[in-house]
Amino acid sequence: MTSTIKKVTCHVVAAPVERPFTSSRGWLYKTRGSCIVEIETSDGITGWGECYGPSAVAKAFIDTQFAPRILGRDAFDVEVIWEDLYNRIKDYGTTGMAISALSGIDIALWDIIGKSTGKPIHKLIGGAYRTEVTCYATGLYFIDMDRLVEEAVEEAREFAEQGFQAIKMKIGLGDPKLDIRRVAAVREAIGDGVRLMVDANHCFTVPQAIRIGRELEKLDIEWFEEPISPEDVDGYVEVSRALDMAVAGGENAFTRWGFRDLVVRKAMDIVQPDVCAAGGISECRKIAALAITHGVECVPHAWGSAIGVAATLHFLAALPDQPPSYRPMPPMLEFEQCENPFRDHLSREPIVQHRGKVQVPTGAGLGIEIDRSVLDKYRVG
Ligand code: CA
Repeated sequence: MTSTIKKVTCHVVAAPVERPFTSSRGWLYKTRGSCIVEIETSDGITGWGECYGPSAVAKAFIDTQFAPRILGRDAFDVEVIWEDLYNRIKDYGTTGMAISALSGIDIALWDIIGKSTGKPIHKLIGGAYRTEVTCYATGLYFIDMDRLVEEAVEEAREFAEQGFQAIKMKIGLGDPKLDIRRVAAVREAIGDGVRLMVDANHCFTVPQAIRIGRELEKLDIEWFEEPISPEDVDGYVEVSRALDMAVAGGENAFTRWGFRDLVVRKAMDIVQPDVCAAGGISECRKIAALAITHGVECVPHAWGSAIGVAATLHFLAALPDQPPSYRPMPPMLEFEQCENPFRDHLSREPIVQHRGKVQVPTGAGLGIEIDRSVLDKYRVG
């Protein structure tokens, strides 16, 4: 069976956000957007992928560097194509948007392989360790600066009422006491039964991170995400060793080489590659193998449309328990809950959580059907 690649199209879409929000990064999310990759084959199959990050940049990489190189090739050669494209842009694109663009192609090719064989992607990359995945709600950003504590409490209560068993909240308000007060209020509101994580979006120095980390530990925080800047691997080693709770990071690392030092040095307890950024499903499988080999947990980052969520679900379904046990604590799906019509409506049948679990799609490929009217409605390029 061959599926010759005939056409590659990038759909650049953006939708306004009704209530703009921010994190410690300080930039305001006023829109949600994405670069959605569509690949058609000569036997009439369409595969879908997604690239994380500025969508026009991903599109430029694909249109000028990657698409001309994959036309006429067999989609089943997905990893051969990956290596070829990576080596083509290696001299100036080993990280960042070049790899995001490559990720979108890789996911679309896996979707094609799945549709060609009638199998969901997870059955093609090792099989299902699980048919449903525990998810956590990412939210509790900074919206109303006059009601930071109250708003976080209300949002956390809402997630718990919706059935979420785990929540991740933002910290990094430039005032550690306020951060702690806000986290403590959320912990009190949701009680001991809901797992709680915090994400600083790398706003602290090493001593600040250790100091606030010790306070957070008293509030039963499951992991401390991106305490410090991602470039500072030595700093991550220090923070991870100083704290009892798990330290997580890696959403801004790319490919197995980008994760190598983080993992080998155990700079963090949990690495968080994003399938739409770190190199796609093919590469995230390799990153996970590297992590597991070194006793580091792999719990993917996700911040995308239904395509990104579905791709992450297949990746998670095929990820072994870390470590295996009688009652394991399997890796969770990051199910962010900020306004995003592409997450909610791009798949004709939306991906939803029920009692804190999301079903792994069982249809062929990604297992979702794309609603093209959503692409048309929000198209900006
Ligand atoms: Ca994060």
